[in-house]
Amino acid sequence: MLKGYIDEVFISVQGEGPLVGTPMLFIRFGGCQAACERCDTPRARTQMSQFPIHGPTAKVVANPVKVVDLTAHATPLLRGLPFLAITGGEPLEQPGFLSLLLTRLSETGKHVLLETRGYHHRELAEVIPRIDVVAVDVKLPSFSERRLPVNATKNFLTIAMQKTCYVKVVVGPDTGEREVMEAARLVADVGGHIPFIVQPRYDEKPPPPGEAERLLVLTTQLTTILPDVRLIPQVHRVLRLR
Ligand code: SF4
Repeated sequence: MLKGYIDEVFISVQGEGPLVGTPMLFIRFGGCQAACERCDTPRARTQMSQFPIHGPTAKVVANPVKVVDLTAHATPLLRGLPFLAITGGEPLEQPGFLSLLLTRLSETGKHVLLETRGYHHRELAEVIPRIDVVAVDVKLPSFSERRLPVNATKNFLTIAMQKTCYVKVVVGPDTGEREVMEAARLVADVGGHIPFIVQPRYDEKPPPPGEAERLLVLTTQLTTILPDVRLIPQVHRVLRLR
């Protein structure tokens, strides 16, 4: 009777990366030990005593939740949607719960997208058979206040490449070119054809003058390292969706 911590469940469109605009059911896992300085989902770092299911049949469910109960809540919401997105927090900090949840939800026949910071490669190896797409959110030093975990990320990408995968880095006005280039070289070292997404950091205030042009130059420079580099902002923020 495996239980786990969830932060929220909701339907939205994918706002980031190559799948942008695709409608999905998002199951956001609760808990993350990374403690990034600029965390954009700070509430999801903590495992709460309950979580909301948003939408027309909104309800609040107690944590930790049994896999069987979460499956019962999620299955009707998945009807008509092409994708299930597992996000966080860090879903791979609850690998047993995630594995069983994906096994149960595999009966719905939906594609599964896993969004992760790309650190726990052994845990990824446990669940990779049930994943279709892995979105690896590499946390740059300007975002996390920590050095890039080069070896851990390489180990992770080597497993993620068994399926479709892409890497995303969040870049703000204070992000240096060197750290972005280092992340791109890391991806190039792993080999294969992994799309590399430069995602402008969302701030309430508008970016400083010239920032979009700087990101365009940076994205162009990155194509000397990797064949598939794209500059994609967060679309759900533009649409003011969850
Ligand atoms: S990995 Fe994600 S959820 Fe965890 S602290 Fe960093 S930004 Fe927040």
